[in-house]
Amino acid sequence: MANDIQIGGLHHLTAVTGDAPGNVEFYTQTLGLRLVKKTVNQDDVSAYHLFYGDALGSPGTEVTFFDWPMTGRNRPGAGEVSRLALRVPGRDALDWWARRLTELGVERTDVQERGGAAYLQLTDPEGQRLELVDDGGAPSNSTPWAGSPVPPEMAIRGMHSVTLTVRELGPTEWVLTQVLGFRRVEDLDGLAVYEVGPGGPGAQVRVDARADLPYARTGIGGVHHIAFRSANDEQHKEWRERIAAAGLQVTPVIDRYYFRSLYFREPGGVLFEIATDGPGFATDEDVAHLGERLSLPPFLEPHRSEIEAGLRPLGAVGTPVGR
Ligand code: ZN
Repeated sequence: MANDIQIGGLHHLTAVTGDAPGNVEFYTQTLGLRLVKKTVNQDDVSAYHLFYGDALGSPGTEVTFFDWPMTGRNRPGAGEVSRLALRVPGRDALDWWARRLTELGVERTDVQERGGAAYLQLTDPEGQRLELVDDGGAPSNSTPWAGSPVPPEMAIRGMHSVTLTVRELGPTEWVLTQVLGFRRVEDLDGLAVYEVGPGGPGAQVRVDARADLPYARTGIGGVHHIAFRSANDEQHKEWRERIAAAGLQVTPVIDRYYFRSLYFREPGGVLFEIATDGPGFATDEDVAHLGERLSLPPFLEPHRSEIEAGLRPLGAVGTPVGR
């Protein structure tokens, strides 16, 4: 494979909540992320799409949620992202987080070590499987949010890695290495570990091959898809051609307004997206006021009043909209 285009690492992860107000509370007040964009699912405008990240919503820091209260609970299994690891700047920060989570009554494991890195695992109030990892102070493009309840020196600095659970390693490994340019770097506790682009925190995918598991059913507390970074639109178009040439069904390039997207399902069943780094979240809001009001892309703006009326209020943390 020619190495002319390169995935820059993880772009964002999109998961499912059934409780938008509780979701805002946990990700902003417990984890200290910034709600950088409050918008709707462009394919279902009755559902919020909430974006959390660093102060700017920089690529690699974004964790996003569809609010689907009527969907069932996630049934874990094969063909899903089974854990999202977020990075914290060093062992002292991880120990601080362990104490904070205990004080706030968040269920968590003890701090453990794997491959020389300390980590702990936790779940959000809906069972979303999360992990905090000591990133060893590695460079990050994250900008701490001054409004966070978490001090900047302890702040979560974006995604560290994701774990995919699939029934068979081979087909998923083929897509990662032969189509997307990942390289297999090590095995950790039975997980195959792949890195892409710069490698290290933010550019890692782990694969857990579990032939014994039934297929997952996506729902509340589960992950919808994982997105990878494309530096620009030119490379994004090339990615689409390369994925199609590999025989995978891929969507057209879709303009998500804050970035351009394309989607395809890898053979293990996990929905992959490739998203452009730009234009970013400050395209329709001042950086000082990101996420405060409902943002709509221009094609939905004429329908703002109906859309707002169809959304439930987010409570004290978000700006109430609609009924
Ligand atoms: Zn996405």
